[in-house]
Amino acid sequence: MLLEKLMEQLEQKEQRIIEIRRYLHEHPELSFEEEQTAAYIADFYNGVPVDEVETNFGGQRGIVVTINGGKPGKTIAIRADFDALPIKEETGLPHVSKNEGVMHACGHDGHTAYMLVLAETLAEMKNDLAGTVKVIHQPAEEMPPGGALGMIKAGVLEGVDAVFGIHVMSMMEAGKIFYRSGNTQTGRASFKLKVQGRGGHGSSPHTANDAIVAASSFVMNCQTIVSRRINPFDTAVVTIGSFDGKGQFNVIKDSVTLEGDVRTMSEKSRELVEKEIRSFAEGLVASFGVKTVLDYANDYPVLYNDPEITGRVRTALEGADISEVDTVQETEPQPPSEDFAYYLQEKPGCFFYVGAMPDDGEAYPHHHPKFVINEKSLLISAKAMAAVVADFCGGKAD
Ligand code: MN
Repeated sequence: MLLEKLMEQLEQKEQRIIEIRRYLHEHPELSFEEEQTAAYIADFYNGVPVDEVETNFGGQRGIVVTINGGKPGKTIAIRADFDALPIKEETGLPHVSKNEGVMHACGHDGHTAYMLVLAETLAEMKNDLAGTVKVIHQPAEEMPPGGALGMIKAGVLEGVDAVFGIHVMSMMEAGKIFYRSGNTQTGRASFKLKVQGRGGHGSSPHTANDAIVAASSFVMNCQTIVSRRINPFDTAVVTIGSFDGKGQFNVIKDSVTLEGDVRTMSEKSRELVEKEIRSFAEGLVASFGVKTVLDYANDYPVLYNDPEITGRVRTALEGADISEVDTVQETEPQPPSEDFAYYLQEKPGCFFYVGAMPDDGEAYPHHHPKFVINEKSLLISAKAMAAVVADFCGGKAD
């Protein structure tokens, strides 16, 4: 009953979801600077019969909205992020970014738009809800340490039984919903290594200590971490994206700075890769007589979807029989990292994906200046999350 009503209401509000998304798309703001976006979200709730709107949550412009159902039940949290990226948009769309050099190139505008309208719809029919729905509008997903941590520290998950999130995906076909159980998105770390040798004349290496040779050996050693240390059935990536060794052909380089990116699919390999990188850096001291300074920073953890809850989400999505959706299917692990993983370290839940590939198939990856989403994914996201809410807070026994 609740589900049918929700679907019907959301369908009537599709155009509004699209309009809100386009407005947000025109007005993107960078992570930790989302002043106007946060104000827009807070304003939206004026006159909406929710029970509480907490602004500046965690001191980082997060907004937490509480909707208390008319009947007792579970408390669930549903989250949408709202930050954009430092990218100059090249889509040429009529609703192109008006904030030059800043772009919603990850779909967070869509997340916020569907979530606002879903929250309003839930509030309007809260008497039929069993339990409590907490809507988390989260800033700063794109920039470590991420907005999720601050919201968790400020208590957003207190009393919450399960937490859910959706990401629209430009490279996944529209009309399809994807889920995965267990380890689903990679954890991430980054590092910076300074190798300090001793400069000298290119003709006299014996009087110097070449930082380029030592740093090159480190780069090559790192290639053995994934190939020789990681279990072949696990996954990891070690990329050295920056090697600052620029100098002159006849001058032996005094120091070199390297920067790298690490992705892992389990906590075990996360620890292993760090240990190996640390030992290779220390090894340079013994093998080359250089000095090294390593800054190694873990940020987003591996995103782990609770298998039982994910199973329930899948059944709810299939059972909801969303007319715009043809399949609900399992997906492969996803390489990007996502700070929703922090919520899932605290509470069981599920982060799943709604296909948003344009109908003409001309898709660009997330974070690309030509990134676009199929706006059909907005109503589908609203309906999919509504199906999850109706399942967990629909008053059925479990
Ligand atoms: Mn994203």
